[in-house]
Amino acid sequence: MAPKPFRQMYEEKYMRFPQGACKAVTLSYDDGVQADKRLIAILNKYGLRGTFNLNSVLFDCPDWHNRMNEEETYATFSEGAHEVALHGARHIFLNKVPLPEAMREVVLNREYLEKKFARIVNGMAYAYNGFNEEIKKGLAMLGVKYARTTANTHSFALPEDFLEWNPTCHHREECFGELTEKFLNSNPLSEFKHRESLLFFLWGHAYEFDDDNNWEIIENFAQKIASAKDIWLATCGEVCDYVNAYKSLVFSLDGERVYNPSAIPVWLELRGKTYKIEPAQTVLFDED
Ligand SMILES: [Zn+2]
Repeated sequence: MAPKPFRQMYEEKYMRFPQGACKAVTLSYDDGVQADKRLIAILNKYGLRGTFNLNSVLFDCPDWHNRMNEEETYATFSEGAHEVALHGARHIFLNKVPLPEAMREVVLNREYLEKKFARIVNGMAYAYNGFNEEIKKGLAMLGVKYARTTANTHSFALPEDFLEWNPTCHHREECFGELTEKFLNSNPLSEFKHRESLLFFLWGHAYEFDDDNNWEIIENFAQKIASAKDIWLATCGEVCDYVNAYKSLVFSLDGERVYNPSAIPVWLELRGKTYKIEPAQTVLFDED
């Protein structure tokens, strides 16, 4: 039998998103403002999915960037494809109050949103980017699965730490259009060494589109992303759950057998072939 050819850099395993996609897009918008309705209409038109980070005791503050009242907030987010997430009860810097008070902010916020929307609410965006290591530990104890920062990476890498999830960019940044093109033009499958799947994580506040009179930039983004192929459109929570399911895969020592203990199917690429591993299924990879 002829010896197998040497295939350096060919044995690595890469997470693929649902349906084997190499790219994903998610959006995270803050504060529960009137302009969220227009943003949601655009996302729905193009099939994009977003996460909306809401406070719970600021419904009667319309002067603060035109926030929605309680009824409007419920009506806007109670149905539809978008995620509701935590943003603190009162939109305070969690790192500028005693830790118990910071935790109370999150507990009250979570309790309110879960009761109001009758769903599990365990994603978050830090108000004013206020956090520290202690707060991250506290959030983990409260069952918060991820928390978004405002530290724009200008990259499409997935986070090392979901409780410090740095987004790709804010829509107000000059590089937004350039990054969009770069994302659309990149193809992990044509890479030799760096075949990691890519995530475009956009964030902002919907009222900024009114303030800047530039709704067309988000409509253009949504239209371009929607017309590209093989991009998974997901909420932040879905991205987090999916990555955690991938990370939970159990491999044999030689890496040739994999078991998916999670409740969702997971896609993986090895030696140029993409595998779908069903929940509770064990798969033996093909030799080539
Ligand atoms: Zn905010």
